[in-house]
Amino acid sequence: MTRTPLHICIIGGGFGGFYTALYLKKYKHLRQIQTTLIEPNDQFLFTPMLYELITRELEEWEVAPTYTSLLTGTNITWKQTRATRINLNQQTVTTEADEVLAYTHLVVATGAKSRPVDIPGANEHALTFRSLQDAQLLTARLAQLVQMRSLSATANLAGRPIRVTVIGGGASGVELAGKVSDYLGTSGQVTLVERGDTILKHFEDGLRRLSQKSLSRRKVRVLTHSAVLAVKADAVIVQSNASGQTETIPSQMTLWAVGTQPREWIGEQAVAQNERGQLLTERSLQLLNHRNVFILGDAADMHSPHQKTAPNTAQAAFQSASRVAANMAAITDIGSKRRVKPFNYLHLGDMLTLGLGEAGLWSFGLTLGGPLAAIARRVVYIFRMPTRHHQLKVARRTLGLLIQGQLFKIKPKSSRF
Ligand SMILES: Cc1cc2nc3c(=O)[nH]c(=O)nc-3n(C[C@H](O)[C@H](O)[C@H](O)COP(=O)(O)OP(=O)(O)OC[C@H]3O[C@@H](n4cnc5c(N)ncnc54)[C@H](O)[C@@H]3O)c2cc1C
Repeated sequence: MTRTPLHICIIGGGFGGFYTALYLKKYKHLRQIQTTLIEPNDQFLFTPMLYELITRELEEWEVAPTYTSLLTGTNITWKQTRATRINLNQQTVTTEADEVLAYTHLVVATGAKSRPVDIPGANEHALTFRSLQDAQLLTARLAQLVQMRSLSATANLAGRPIRVTVIGGGASGVELAGKVSDYLGTSGQVTLVERGDTILKHFEDGLRRLSQKSLSRRKVRVLTHSAVLAVKADAVIVQSNASGQTETIPSQMTLWAVGTQPREWIGEQAVAQNERGQLLTERSLQLLNHRNVFILGDAADMHSPHQKTAPNTAQAAFQSASRVAANMAAITDIGSKRRVKPFNYLHLGDMLTLGLGEAGLWSFGLTLGGPLAAIARRVVYIFRMPTRHHQLKVARRTLGLLIQGQLFKIKPKSSRF
């Protein structure tokens, strides 16, 4: 009897899928196995450092290296397309180009997307910040606003600050507010709007306090207990939860940093999902009733003994990728002693960028802030970046800038600086 040659197909080249592809190659018996990565973008995105593109602390190639460069020297086949259908019974994946790929093992890591909002004007006038294109658009708009202000200065209309409103006081909103504020300096006024009673509700107290101080030093106006009623081209209308009063905040640029949802399941067969639409898996991250299919990252409801579900973070996706690769190695290495094991998420800590050269860090009860935290965060993230080659390239540039005292002093190209 001849056995079908193994073919591992991975859908999604983000933290879950791409790191799984790289980890698989650590297992000797998987090195020669056909592995196909399906991902429509041509650059991997290291999302935790996307904010650094606003202030140009990092270059685009550092935050978003191309798949071609990262996959050089591996035998992973990258198909730059989108998977449109999965047939679990026939074990096939269909791509946008109508190509049908037969797999023996499948990994699905399609991640999350922004949740559509039904607040008037939000979808038309607010910018999101999830992709490289979002970051490029945001920096272009900021540069444009700065240029317009300097032109109006020559026309004697000077003095008015550029007003930016960030909606959502979670990690993304706080990080955006800090970076945009530092980009604009004294020519800008940033307002951060949060519906709840505090920013960074899910974070440790120490990190929250540190972030509040950092925002206050930057004169970011933080409005808590405030619900957004509407977004206009030049303003945001908010209502105080306490007094019921409404306020119109002038806003030349509005950033939406609230709400994500997992991407829809593209399988032809129905599978069990939680109320958010994340797919239910075994503790091993195998899809229920389909042991040759693994689901991970933001698309999965990843159970963990310490927490009900692992969070939707790069940290969790990264950890789960190594478990998926190990379990894949176990189920494909017939006759070996390897066993499938449950995924156990370990929360190592939280890190936030709080503007140029400043960060906040919490790990196992310890909180660290300021420039030292910014350097520590940079170092930790460099060693989390994909491939040793890319890590070394980024580390070399970072070290060079550190020696020249330029690490956190890079100013935007077309700003007022
Ligand atoms: C701006 C930003 C900052 C963040 N900062 C942090 C942070 O500081 N710390 C942290 O832990 N987490 C952070 N996160 C969250 C983190 O990025 C996600 O939790 C993590 O990327 C999830 O990994 P994933 O593989 O599930 O999804 P992703 O990394 O989003 O990857 C999904 C991939 O699947 C591809 N894809 C989708 N559908 C298809 C399809 N049909 N066919 C083929 N490919 C498809 C997408 O193009 C994408 O590349 C941040 C997220 C954002 C947006």
